[in-house]
Amino acid sequence: MIIRMKKNASEEDVKKVEQRIEEVGLRASVSRGESLVIIGVIGDVTMLPEDRIEEIPGVETIMRVSKPYKLISREFNPVDRTVAIGKKKTGAGSFIFIAGPCAVESRDQLLTTARIVKKLSCDVLRGGAFKPRTSPYEFQGLGETALKYLKEAKEETGLPVVTEVTGEDKIELIMKYADVLQIGARNMRSYDLLKQIGKRTAETKTPVLLKRGDNATVEEFLNAAEYIAKEGNENIMLCLRGIRTFESGKYFRNTADIGMIPVLKKETGLPVIFDPSHSAGKRDLVPSYSMAAVAAGADGLIIETHYNPETAMCDGQQSLSEDELANTISLCRQLLTDIRKFQLR
Ligand code: PEP
Ligand code: MN
Repeated sequence: MIIRMKKNASEEDVKKVEQRIEEVGLRASVSRGESLVIIGVIGDVTMLPEDRIEEIPGVETIMRVSKPYKLISREFNPVDRTVAIGKKKTGAGSFIFIAGPCAVESRDQLLTTARIVKKLSCDVLRGGAFKPRTSPYEFQGLGETALKYLKEAKEETGLPVVTEVTGEDKIELIMKYADVLQIGARNMRSYDLLKQIGKRTAETKTPVLLKRGDNATVEEFLNAAEYIAKEGNENIMLCLRGIRTFESGKYFRNTADIGMIPVLKKETGLPVIFDPSHSAGKRDLVPSYSMAAVAAGADGLIIETHYNPETAMCDGQQSLSEDELANTISLCRQLLTDIRKFQLR
């Protein structure tokens, strides 16, 4: 249920609505736009008699939300939302570049790559500390040691860092080091993990980068985000990284779900980030996938890069070298400028 307040509604009216919601054991989520206050009701709304709300003078309308994902839906909150990462932000016209290696392999590898990421004016550094690998015999990441290197890279470059949380037991530890918590495609359906991340970030509002599972529908993906939002953190970036189709992976790794970008943006105001690397799987496809995502309205890109991709222990074939990353970023920046000019017309 969504309660829209009148333009001239008083703070007291808003408080009264909150009280009535809480009286019956439900939760109120108050969103304040420039001239609009919207209150969302979370929980079993059959407990809440509408006339108890209607009688409050500042209430304009009461609407039932039809979407299963309520808090993150546009129906509930029509504005374009932004997620702030350090001093940067994504969404509502702000674009971010996230880049870095698939996995943190060593102090040298991370620092050298982080310096490239900084030099090319990217906004956030990525780097996996705990790697969810298909084979248990593959490199699993350096764990806490990698987190320490990420911290060092952040201190040196000033770049905020994003790294993946692969299990509930690692949330606390990773929160000490990371500015953004990544939930990988494989874990998009780990509902306990989603809930725990939502709970543990409810106070800090630490941004979460949620990746779409490789066979998840739009609705399943948005419901996964709702799990986090429901626990109290709506600072969520939705990340598309390609899906599995009948293609075998010979020409590319995962079918680029670029067409989902405008769909997600229609359904929710949350920022949408595209990952061309895990979609393409081959570095020569990354520039065009990146530009396609920009053109489709993405609010950011997360691109794998390595100071020497040939030696990468993880996803080297899709990682860009410094020159390739520079080229991709410059193409995308040019495109962003052109799109903005076009939109202004
Ligand atoms: C990654 O970002 O390195 C990763 C493992 O991605 P995904 O969860 O999309 O496979
Ligand atoms: Mn990877």
